[in-house]
Amino acid sequence: MKAIVFGGPGDVRVDETRDPELEESTDAIVRVTASAICGFDLRIARGEVPDMLPGTILGHEGVGVIEDLGEDIRNFQIGDRVLLCPTLACGACHQCGRGHYAHCERANPNGAAFGPAMFGGPAASGPFHGLLAEYARVPLAHTTMLHLPEEIGDADGLLLTDAIPTGLFGVRLTRLSPGQSLAVFGCGPIGQQAITCAQRAGAGRIFAIDGMESRLDAARERGAEAIDMEAEDPVQVLRDLTKGAGVDCVINAVPIDALPARFGDPLAASPLTSPAGDTLDSSLLDILERLRPVDEAPFDLAAQAFAWSTAAAATSGTVAVLCFHPGQVRHFPLMAALRKNLTLRLGTCHHRKYLPRLIEKFQRGTWWERSPRHRVPDVLRDQGDGDSFFEQRLFEMSPWD
Ligand SMILES: [Zn+2]
Ligand SMILES: [Zn+2]
Repeated sequence: MKAIVFGGPGDVRVDETRDPELEESTDAIVRVTASAICGFDLRIARGEVPDMLPGTILGHEGVGVIEDLGEDIRNFQIGDRVLLCPTLACGACHQCGRGHYAHCERANPNGAAFGPAMFGGPAASGPFHGLLAEYARVPLAHTTMLHLPEEIGDADGLLLTDAIPTGLFGVRLTRLSPGQSLAVFGCGPIGQQAITCAQRAGAGRIFAIDGMESRLDAARERGAEAIDMEAEDPVQVLRDLTKGAGVDCVINAVPIDALPARFGDPLAASPLTSPAGDTLDSSLLDILERLRPVDEAPFDLAAQAFAWSTAAAATSGTVAVLCFHPGQVRHFPLMAALRKNLTLRLGTCHHRKYLPRLIEKFQRGTWWERSPRHRVPDVLRDQGDGDSFFEQRLFEMSPWD
């Protein structure tokens, strides 16, 4: 079969590879009908993800049709159309039982301490071959696969695999309550979906921060207030727009390889500086500056986003971190976060936890992306008054807790 294979940093190619076979009684073989490239795949291709084995088939976002099934798979049949969770889970261990599927204790052959098991990832995540291929072996298929109804096309199915659940996971991490304000730093696919999910969860004001006009336009269409970080200092704008209070919740969805920011300095809100920006111990700061390896890029946007997130959050606010930051971010404004009593929450999305209900919403046509008639003004009209709409959104939140 043909597959997109990682050969090394900068070396990703379409190769002829061996067809996958059933290896365990809980495996399935799926003919991939559509798969997508995630930002994570681009980071792998650039060599920014350590521990990637040459020969690994890339990709963790895919939908397809079952070609073959292990004898212990009883909830699917050959020919079923399925959506594949990017992270693998057994469905039977303690963590899976708590809905913490990404922390499954059995899926990762290296052991649970090595983190989530996933398709197309580094050695520490399995490794398992990915879904940018004609066929894929799906381990723990009883939990990793979900039935994909005919009403949901492949393109919507792909959006459902990772971007929507991860955006939703980001909103859940912030513990956003209806009416609270939210700032989303980084408005790529996951940031956009976080904005949509926050709207559905009843957020008050939503601010979208990015440097690309097309992304800011898309965020505006979702009802967010756009802030172009290339044109203005986003923290200052957020302070001005909230009369100095800051935002209740922040989602940091800025990837490690984002371009450097024009405004700000990640060290400006470091533990070494006071709230007024005065350096508490400039000699120590100088020493740290000199100790920093030359090839480290401390002023990149990922580090900057931590400083911005902390500075933008209101007192007792919450900052959620969604994107992959493999060790390069060494500066975190700990003291600034401590002074504000901030809560920092981060992690990998439990895809399997959210997907059944998300698939059901897509099938019913009640997801924002699929059904423009369910945008806020229409729903208000359908529901008759604002109060019942608010109650409906509260109701919608509860099954996702
Ligand atoms: Zn992805
Ligand atoms: Zn498990």
